[in-house]
Amino acid sequence: MIIAVDGPAAAGKGTIARALARHFGFHFLDTGALYRMVGLATLRAGGEPITPETAIAAARSLEPSSFTDSDLRTETVGAAASIVAVIPEVRAALLEFQRSFARKPPGAVLDGRDIGTVVCPDAHAKLFITASPEVRARRRQKELGAADYDAVLADIKARDARDSQRATAPLVAAQDAVMLDTSGMDITAAVSAAIAAVEARRVP
Ligand code: C5P
Repeated sequence: MIIAVDGPAAAGKGTIARALARHFGFHFLDTGALYRMVGLATLRAGGEPITPETAIAAARSLEPSSFTDSDLRTETVGAAASIVAVIPEVRAALLEFQRSFARKPPGAVLDGRDIGTVVCPDAHAKLFITASPEVRARRRQKELGAADYDAVLADIKARDARDSQRATAPLVAAQDAVMLDTSGMDITAAVSAAIAAVEARRVP
């Protein structure tokens, strides 16, 4: 069984996807981390401005299982990830890894932007997690321990625009996705709603 969890930055999809994986005993893949790895490797290899050649080379030589880096979660790397994610060759280089991960028995939960639309269009359950930009900025500010709320909000809006407007695999809800707006929910309520939505689609 494949569960696709998509949505914009800081909507809660990572927390929800992890909780779903735990609940159902499935494998979990944070696909944003793959793009962050490429973003970070590109910054380290070529600096800024990011060039497509450097990003494509970084994506093609990525060793996903061996990459853990404390810099991965920074907003600089998140922004770099959304810049390299626009490049079709970068997306293509990461596609097969994601698809073969999704086929792991007994099931997998993948979170990202295009899981339900491009990576696993045949996923058994698809969730699209949203929250207002202001709520997401507050959450991200807390998570990063950042002082400047306005700067975090501006980063979130810039990333939303880049992710939604790109030509290849833009951030968009699959037609058959269950929409979950977590703006007014705490983690427990959001996770319960997500589990209920997946249970309703579950193949007996
Ligand atoms: O989810 P996270 O914030 O870690 O993702 C970082 C960036 O990676 C996103 O802003 C997006 O541009 C890109 N991404 C993507 N497709 C995915 C996952 C992430 O384009 N499936």
